[in-house]
Order: sequence, then structure tokens, then C-alpha cells
Amino acid sequence: MTEDDIFKDLGVRPLRRLNKSGRPAPHLSLRFDSHLFSIDTSRSPKKSIQPDAYLVTHAHSDHYGKSAMISPKAVASRETARALEIRHERRYEGRTFPVGEEILVDELEVKTYSTGHTIGSVAFGWETEVGTRVLVTGDVKNYENLPKCDLLVTEANYGDPWDPACRFEDDIVGFGDAVESGATFGAYAFGKAQRAVSLIRALGCKEEIGMDPKSLALTKELLPDFGPFSPVEENGTDLNVVTPWELSTVSSKRKYVLTGRSDLPFTQIRISDHLDFKGLMRMVEKISPEAALIYHPEGRRANMMAHHLRELGMASISVSQIEDSF
Ligand SMILES: [Zn+2]
Repeated sequence: MTEDDIFKDLGVRPLRRLNKSGRPAPHLSLRFDSHLFSIDTSRSPKKSIQPDAYLVTHAHSDHYGKSAMISPKAVASRETARALEIRHERRYEGRTFPVGEEILVDELEVKTYSTGHTIGSVAFGWETEVGTRVLVTGDVKNYENLPKCDLLVTEANYGDPWDPACRFEDDIVGFGDAVESGATFGAYAFGKAQRAVSLIRALGCKEEIGMDPKSLALTKELLPDFGPFSPVEENGTDLNVVTPWELSTVSSKRKYVLTGRSDLPFTQIRISDHLDFKGLMRMVEKISPEAALIYHPEGRRANMMAHHLRELGMASISVSQIEDSF
């Protein structure tokens, strides 16, 4: 059976919107029954076919909430909506829900599941009229809450089985040692900064944490009970979390970056917001879908993960292999 037949069988047609230059816009839409749901896409221009909903899995910019958030058809968790507002200084015009609750979207019951990737990140799941269970994960750190499904639409940030960079463990011990002796951590303001703060508190450290203005605003909003926090220049302790590019401006005994970027002149501590390749495979095994569509980030890793799943006998395509468009 070809991949096309599988999607026909499942009653779900993946398609992509083409932008003015004729190239596909990120990421994809799913047509099923009478519905058209767009997933982590930018807004369709007025003249173009309009989806029934823009599902926004989380507030990272490569998932296009900045564009979708000003549509009343946007659907995002409360935390994702607030993070988008703080990050982009514009009003979120769509609908919100508490993570883990069910929501009616275009008269269809859509369930939501925490994925532990950022505060407020969710997977969306629903069942079509022919009984196909669809699950769209967004980015995932923790797949424990995710249900079984028939069609899995998922990420591949570390999905290439042949790339050694896709296999890693988080260095929680190294992070804990650094917290104990006092340090300044370079972390992206949304996502990684809140992961660092959660870990600092989980380690039992109650000291004040100094932060740059954007990280501070986001963390106070998304983790209100995890203080005390202060602006980095007013912080009396040697414990700070700032963006990687502000790291050089802070005076601190020890400085580390919590990103995978190797172009920064600071020691790296590996703390990832993602599953590595082994984790992704364990997730697929648990969800045990009939077919998989690997959608983010578009390119080699998604292609390689789809290829790997096909080799294991699962019907699987990457977002670049979607042929239908609008
Ligand atoms: Zn992300």
C-alpha cells in the first residue's frame, strides 16, 4: 500500500498552502470530514482558502504563533497565548484553554495534552467521523501524557538516526553542581529560561534568581510561584539566568550556556527542551500509530526520521513529501 492510500484509508488529507512565490508555507493543514485545520502555520492571506482553526502547539517562533495569534481562529493554551503576547507585544485574538482540557473546535471535540517542551506546550488529539484518531504533537520533551493514535503528526528536531548530534542525555548533574557553586546561565528567554528556573527550584535552591527584562517578564507570568526573581543588575546573589547574548555583560564567577549553539565562548551544559532520537522512537512506540507524518523542522531530520520509520515498516512521510496544496 502506498503512503497516499494510507491517508485515503484514514480519511485525512494533508496539504500545504502555497505562498505567492509558489513555495509551500510552513507547516501544514489537515482536511478531514468537513474540517480544515492548520497546524503551526502562518495566517492564510485574505484571498486564500481559510482554515477552520489555526492550532498553535506552543509559542516558539518557528511554530508561527506570532502570525496566527491575531486571527480569531487561533487555538492555543492560556500560557502559550500569554507568552505570545509578552514576546510579540500584540494582543492574542484567538481562543484559549487550560492545558489538558478538551475544547470544541469547529464543533469537533479536540483534546489537549501537555508535552513538557515549554510552559503551555500541548499536543492536540481528535477522532474523525470514520474513527481515525489523529494526534498532532508539536515539540515534545515528555511523551508520558500522550495517547495512542492512528495518525501521528510529530516533530523531528533530533530525528536523524545517523546524526550523532541527535543522541544525548541532559546533564542535570552538571547543572546542579553549577547552581550550587553560583553561576550565570545563558538561556533563551522563552522556554529554556523557565526550564532552568524550574530545575533550580527542583534542586532545592531557594535563592533569588537575577534575570534580564524579557526573561523576567515571561518567567513571572508563566511560573509565578517560582520566585524570588529580580532584575539581574539588582540581584545580590551569584545566580542568574539571562539570554545567551547578554551573558558577556553580566559580572559572574562562572558562566555557562544552556543551548546547543557552539559559537558562544562559554562552557555548554546540555539541557534540552526536546526528546533526542531514542526518546522520539520510544514515543512513537508508545503511541503506536498506523501512519506518521513528520512535520517539523522541515528538512533533513524530518526526511530521515520518516525514512527510518518506513524502514521499520510504518507508513510515514515527511512534510516535504506532501503533494496536495491550496
Ligand atoms: Zn519549540
